[in-house]
Amino acid sequence: MSELADSIDQVLDRIAQAAQRAGRSAEDIAIVLATKTRTADEIRAAVEIFSERGVRVGVGENRAQEIAKHVDLEDLGLTRHFIGRLQTNKARDVVRFADLIHSVDRPGLIDALERRANNDGVTQRILLQVNTSGEDTKAGFAPDAAVLKDAIDRCRDGGTLTVEGLMTIGSHTGDEDEVRRSLRDLRILREDLADGAVRELSMGMTHDLEQAVEEGATIIRVGSAVFGERDYTK
Ligand SMILES: *Cc1c(COP(=O)(O)O)cnc(C)c1O
Repeated sequence: MSELADSIDQVLDRIAQAAQRAGRSAEDIAIVLATKTRTADEIRAAVEIFSERGVRVGVGENRAQEIAKHVDLEDLGLTRHFIGRLQTNKARDVVRFADLIHSVDRPGLIDALERRANNDGVTQRILLQVNTSGEDTKAGFAPDAAVLKDAIDRCRDGGTLTVEGLMTIGSHTGDEDEVRRSLRDLRILREDLADGAVRELSMGMTHDLEQAVEEGATIIRVGSAVFGERDYTK
């Protein structure tokens, strides 16, 4: 079996086992491939292997400039996610291509996306990114239900952004309890909001996907567990 297929089987197995421990069905957890510097051919090969396993994955891009490579994958009918930090001046490119933007992290970006979507006459599905780790290097709204409620209202007032859930990047530490806390807090915030439309929890990456699944992730974003460690020189 190829190395790629082997990695994919391991990821599916990790998800399945975590889901089982949590009494959840693995089918309720969507997988988004964080494609970063990967080529369209590499992404295609991975998508096809998942598909052979009966799993439909989405693709997630971090950089507005790399959106173009997804065009080569159009025949696969993938859902396209934007998961990276987004500058307001790139809102236009991303609104045009993304089915779901996970990384809406500040009021100014809500306004920019609202203007773009309004201009293009589309509705845009989004998640609000929350900084549950408290790390200054991470973007996101404060982990406070009142702050999130204001952001949701801001989106609803505009009328073109649909908030479907919350997203976080887990704490970057070897302390497992802290990692779990940073993921659990996202679920607690969703409970505090008690807003039926806000249901998705996008959390869990290569290093914390088990904890994320156990804490209720509905979408996980994996890159290196599938493709191998990134080549940072690219
Ligand atoms: C790269 C990235 C991921 C995936 O990270 P891995 O550790 O490679 O699985 C998930 N979410 C975001 C926002 C990313 O930038």
